[in-house]
Amino acid sequence: MNNTKAYSAASATSPLASTHIKRRDTTEHDVQIEILFCGICHSDLHAVRNEWSAFMPTVYPIVPGHEIVGRVTKVGPAVRKFKVGDLAAVGCMVDSDRTCPQCKAGLEQFCPNMTLTYNSPDKHLGGVTYGGYSESIVVDEHFVLRVPANLNLAGAAPLLCAGITTYSPMRHWGVRKGKKVGVVGLGGLGHMAVKIAHALGAHVVVFTTSPSKKEDALRLGADEVVLSRNADEMKKHTFSFDFILDAVAAEHDINAYLNLLRRDGNLTLVGAPPKPLAIAAFGLIVGRRSLSGSSIGGIAETQEMLDFCGKHNLTADVEVIPIQKVNEAYERLVKSDVKYRFSIDMASLKER
Ligand code: NAP
Ligand code: ZN
Repeated sequence: MNNTKAYSAASATSPLASTHIKRRDTTEHDVQIEILFCGICHSDLHAVRNEWSAFMPTVYPIVPGHEIVGRVTKVGPAVRKFKVGDLAAVGCMVDSDRTCPQCKAGLEQFCPNMTLTYNSPDKHLGGVTYGGYSESIVVDEHFVLRVPANLNLAGAAPLLCAGITTYSPMRHWGVRKGKKVGVVGLGGLGHMAVKIAHALGAHVVVFTTSPSKKEDALRLGADEVVLSRNADEMKKHTFSFDFILDAVAAEHDINAYLNLLRRDGNLTLVGAPPKPLAIAAFGLIVGRRSLSGSSIGGIAETQEMLDFCGKHNLTADVEVIPIQKVNEAYERLVKSDVKYRFSIDMASLKER
């Protein structure tokens, strides 16, 4: 077993602070990765503060982080995909049963026995899994992704959650040229959704509560920007969208967006506010509209997304921070003050 530096929170009200955790030795199919960058997802904050206690209670101490890129430092004897020195990435999952219908369909994210990168029972060491706010991680090669060589690593890390979570539903619902696509909330997920929808050829409309993000939205690839608190601006888009992706992390009125869908249009929720949302039946009845959810994406699709981003040279717009600034970054995340993802430079963990 290896002793590894990490950042953890001891309770829902504690700040993240430096600690040591154990990582297992590599077994047959394991890849050991030195973590270079780890993105900060709003899910990390929900989990650290136990905001999803009703669905997924947090076990403390928690080491969050599931947007991981790094370099392979060791491989088990049966590993075929990676060798020492390769770039490698890990997202939100580190294991699944590989035998259930979801795994067989390449949708490991829905496996009933899936292991999340953090806060899931750890089959190897007991306790719970620890995520990417750490020096290194050991993961079965099936759950390790290849990073296209042309991508900036700090900006590539957020693809492992924000990238796949927006790519997967857009592919599922047929986002392409000729489709009108809405993106609600210009945060980490939202800004990747804009870039990906634009690269897929769609007409992209951003809905934001932050007037100051308007110029950025256009620069990121949006064709139009709507200030969602302006009812007149919203009304102009009634019954016009093929697809809307809602990536908002807090309570908000989704009925306003259902009304903007055209006949058979779909609104997919990827944002996961802790409290239930209220839905007006007529927003769905009129126009035979549908409302769905989506969770990250399977491993094969995550690799497909990374290769797509490599081909289109897409990465997240990141503010690179040292790990010592993580608590400050969380406070800014709550205020929607991030442009547009924090990426932790893990070299900072060595300075102490
Ligand atoms: P983020 O960077 O904090 O972005 C969220 C954005 O939502 C903000 O930038 C803001 O955009 C908007 N917003 C915030 N508060 C709002 C409010 N009260 N009313 C309306 N809009 C508001 O968060 P993120 O990392 O992108 O994550 C977004 C959500 O997705 C989180 O709940 C996260 O847990 C969830 N998530 C789900 C999955 C999945 O698999 N389904 C994966 C990853 C994350 P504007 O300033 O433009 O309004
Ligand atoms: Zn995430």
